Amino acid sequence: MSFCSRRRLCVRFFLLYFLYVDISARIKLVTSEIFEVLKKFKKPAITCSYGKDSILVVWFLRRLARNIPIVFSNTGFEYPELYQFRRQIIKDWNLTEHVVLPKHTFWWIVERHGFPMYSKGRIAGYDRKFLPAHYCCLYLKKRPFNQFFSKSKFDLVMDGLRAQESDLRRYTIWKYGKLHYSKQNRIFKFHPIAKVTNKEREEIYEKYKIPYCKIYDYRMEGIQNRTGCWCCTLNWKYPKGKFLRTFYPKLWKILLDHGFASACLSEKLQSPVSQEYAMTQLETRPCLLDQL
Ligand code: SF4
Repeated sequence: MSFCSRRRLCVRFFLLYFLYVDISARIKLVTSEIFEVLKKFKKPAITCSYGKDSILVVWFLRRLARNIPIVFSNTGFEYPELYQFRRQIIKDWNLTEHVVLPKHTFWWIVERHGFPMYSKGRIAGYDRKFLPAHYCCLYLKKRPFNQFFSKSKFDLVMDGLRAQESDLRRYTIWKYGKLHYSKQNRIFKFHPIAKVTNKEREEIYEKYKIPYCKIYDYRMEGIQNRTGCWCCTLNWKYPKGKFLRTFYPKLWKILLDHGFASACLSEKLQSPVSQEYAMTQLETRPCLLDQL
């Protein structure tokens, strides 16, 4: 192990060991922060994907007996279990929901720009063969959200953003803080569970038997399963293809039939491959495109 990796491990251990807060203390902390923030706003809302993080925020709000409206971005490409869970939790928790719909579909984006396979960091290498994922998110999620909030009367929007989810989210929270004003949407944003770790989140779910979407129970090595668009090709370097092929063979086939077989194999071989050729290869080796 290199010196850098060892140093990174030590830092992580230090953070986990010394900054770990007892679960009851963490719940009290988050609850009191939400309570204090809500006192300052008249019309709050919460963006919710019905994943474990946003549902946790809704759970905190229910502890405060607040039925704050949910804003759900329905891309039309969520996993089937997500839609089932959404229906159930709205009924069981008596939630109020606003649905935000994109103007275009995922296939419309793919037709014009290609599949979203690169993260924002790869923008320099963007040659319109593949779309950097944040553009796809812009069409399907961000722009519809922005348009909705710019017309709505909400003055605060909460979400389930957590620092431990990714380096980008950690940076966002570090840069703007948990509560900040977004000039773009002209609204305040609040990330109440920003400091809740993965371990703490699981402990809270376990202790309070909070319901969650069944997608989290589909486990596979190398995959951190989460809610989101089933058709997302961004994480193809992890065995996303294998995950889809195993648990959702019909959706896997739909994606490949829409041209992803050729796009993925071309990327893998670094040379253009026709859709017919790619599909023929898959007949004998279905695992060929399990990951890049
Ligand atoms: S998660 Fe993936 S498929 Fe969904 S909007 Fe973002 S980039 Fe597009």
